[in-house]
Amino acid sequence: MTSDQPEHARTGSETLRTGSEPAPTGTDVVLEARGVTKHFPLRRTARDLFARERRSVHAVDDVSLRLRRGTVTALVGESGSGKSTVARLLAQLYPLTSGEIRLGGEPVAAGRGGSFRRYVRRVQLIFQDPFASLNPVHTVRYHLTRALKIHGRAGNGKAELEENLAALLGRVQLTPPQQFLDKFPHELSGGQRQRVAIARALGADPQVLLADEPVSMLDVSIRLGVLNLLRDLKERLHLAILYITHDIASARYFADTTLVMYAGRIVEGGDSERVTQHPAHPYTQLLIASAPDPDRIAADEDQEETGTGEPPSLITPPAGCRFHPRCPQAMERCRTELPPRFDLPQGQWAACWLYEGAAANGTEPVAVRTVAKEATR
Ligand code: SF4
Repeated sequence: MTSDQPEHARTGSETLRTGSEPAPTGTDVVLEARGVTKHFPLRRTARDLFARERRSVHAVDDVSLRLRRGTVTALVGESGSGKSTVARLLAQLYPLTSGEIRLGGEPVAAGRGGSFRRYVRRVQLIFQDPFASLNPVHTVRYHLTRALKIHGRAGNGKAELEENLAALLGRVQLTPPQQFLDKFPHELSGGQRQRVAIARALGADPQVLLADEPVSMLDVSIRLGVLNLLRDLKERLHLAILYITHDIASARYFADTTLVMYAGRIVEGGDSERVTQHPAHPYTQLLIASAPDPDRIAADEDQEETGTGEPPSLITPPAGCRFHPRCPQAMERCRTELPPRFDLPQGQWAACWLYEGAAANGTEPVAVRTVAKEATR
């Protein structure tokens, strides 16, 4: 089976979803985070004995996002910004410190056992390292059969199982299936291993894929193929995909919506084209300026400073705007007052005091106009 053929595989009582489903409107929210916060308490040391509060790592603070059917949402940020923790919270691998997760509009109660199995049937996580996520002593057949059986989709009898295994490999464009089913992970390339990991996730017939840096450990030459596969799955199966990445350039190519995360908070969001071509928040501007670009390197001397330094400690994050120690445009109030989200034209928003006035009168903010001009130079 190739990616162009219709999929008709049946599994016992359920039918694998096919590309013939009605097209989604693009507005239906499948998974939603509301004010999600995660603090990891630190082990007490002698120094903490007399402290009133236990110290903790403020990994994620007040994160809200919506994943819609048939769309890709990119969550972009540097290492340590908390984006992978967000994916794990959405996958229910950690309990929340506060906030709420809703699946299909219903609040999700953290739990294990049957409720957790029902949840992971609808929300699947794909890890960064496909080699680590596959057991090296088991074949592709074992991994996929196990996923189908756990989620009650193995079918009735051997023939139906074989049909479903072939359908899963077909979905990730590993064809003919006989060529892959009895291979061990070490016999596959990195891209093929990640495709098997994606096939295993699809074995649950999920509505949401949480893809945590799914291509960052792959050779550059095969990254595009895996991103194209995910885009194809989004379109054919109408999946809601969260794409976690540190590469803002790939977010522009792959995602419909982009959210930018810094030091545990989301600082900017909007349509991917808009956010990557007209970044509003100084941190997004820094991320884009840091991405390799020969044209920009040649013109480097003409550019304004966009910010330097390292991300802050999340045990004692800076007061006010967390980006203020690195921000070239920081003002006095940035050191003490946390900026709220300011809405900008064309659905973009930024949590930055620079946009307080622009948000109030609905004009194109000066800082966005400046960056847009530089981007087209
Ligand atoms: Fe910079 Fe202030 Fe905006 Fe933070 S709120 S990004 S410190 S200008």
